[in-house]
Amino acid sequence: MQPSPGNKTVRCPVCETPVVWSAAQRWKPFCSERCKLIDLGAWFDESNRIPGSRVTDTNPGND
Ligand SMILES: [Zn+2]
Repeated sequence: MQPSPGNKTVRCPVCETPVVWSAAQRWKPFCSERCKLIDLGAWFDESNRIPGSRVTDTNPGND
């Protein structure tokens, strides 16, 4: 491992833990696999809620 002085740091979108933006950080921009899965889970949850309330909106105004 060689030290990289100019390493950029980002914050994990889930828990806001500082994450070093490097090739070694395989879960970036997340701090860990766990946070990545949490974010994906939240995403799927969002898209699963949409169809219910969208059904009446799908009609492209045909009158
Ligand atoms: Zn995190």
